[in-house]
Amino acid sequence: MIELIDSHAHVDGPEFDGDRADVLARARAAGVRRMIVIGAVGDPGSAERAVALAEADADVFATVATHPHDVDKMTPAWWEVHERLAPHPRVVAIGETGLDFYYDHSDRAAQVAAFHRFVELARRVGKPVVCHIRDAHAEARAVLTESRAAELGVIIHCFTGTPDDAAAYAAMGCYVSFSGIVTYKNAQPIRDAVGRVPLDRILVETDCPYLSPVPMRGKRNEPAFVTHTAAAVAQAAGVPLADLAAATVANTARIFRLPAPAPVS
Ligand SMILES: [Zn+2]
Ligand SMILES: [Zn+2]
Repeated sequence: MIELIDSHAHVDGPEFDGDRADVLARARAAGVRRMIVIGAVGDPGSAERAVALAEADADVFATVATHPHDVDKMTPAWWEVHERLAPHPRVVAIGETGLDFYYDHSDRAAQVAAFHRFVELARRVGKPVVCHIRDAHAEARAVLTESRAAELGVIIHCFTGTPDDAAAYAAMGCYVSFSGIVTYKNAQPIRDAVGRVPLDRILVETDCPYLSPVPMRGKRNEPAFVTHTAAAVAQAAGVPLADLAAATVANTARIFRLPAPAPVS
């Protein structure tokens, strides 16, 4: 069976409160044994929930931060939660942080300031940074360059830029993660971007519960569905699915410094 890792899942969210154990079981049955749960949506309760999930399951790892959408709401107490959780051994990265100038849910200057501060936090704990960047790629590269974030490791999650943006991130040493968008009919620029990222820098993700890949589009997304995304990325990269899967598993383990998986009992 093809093995994959979902590098970006929001299974801490309320969308999964009714059937979280079933969702994890379906992921494992589909070959998606391990996943990175992103604790960054809304208030820091998301970070707390992601860490709790990672403490309870050896195949789940957490990240902590506040999404760029929500940084306008950040209080000193929110920062204290992230600073307390960042060194936790089950926290493998800081994120998602970054810039979203498409929705502009938070003030742009506040997004830039929080992005810098989260990179500083990542540097303090020696962990990589998961970045959410939408319609702000030049600005994001400026922050990443100025903060020397590439030294820590950078993942550009749910990539939605141009092929040239993908090449620029790869040239900086960033990893680029592709979501279900790569399966959408109108997403040829994203498929073209896959070809501009070296195979040893590509990750796959669901970003569930959002962005279900074809043929699951319209349903709630879940980690098991990353298999469809991986198939589309393999096709776009021009490599067999088995090779793409092996590369993305190795890449995800490398950038997040995951321990070797425990033997299956
Ligand atoms: Zn995101
Ligand atoms: Zn996300």
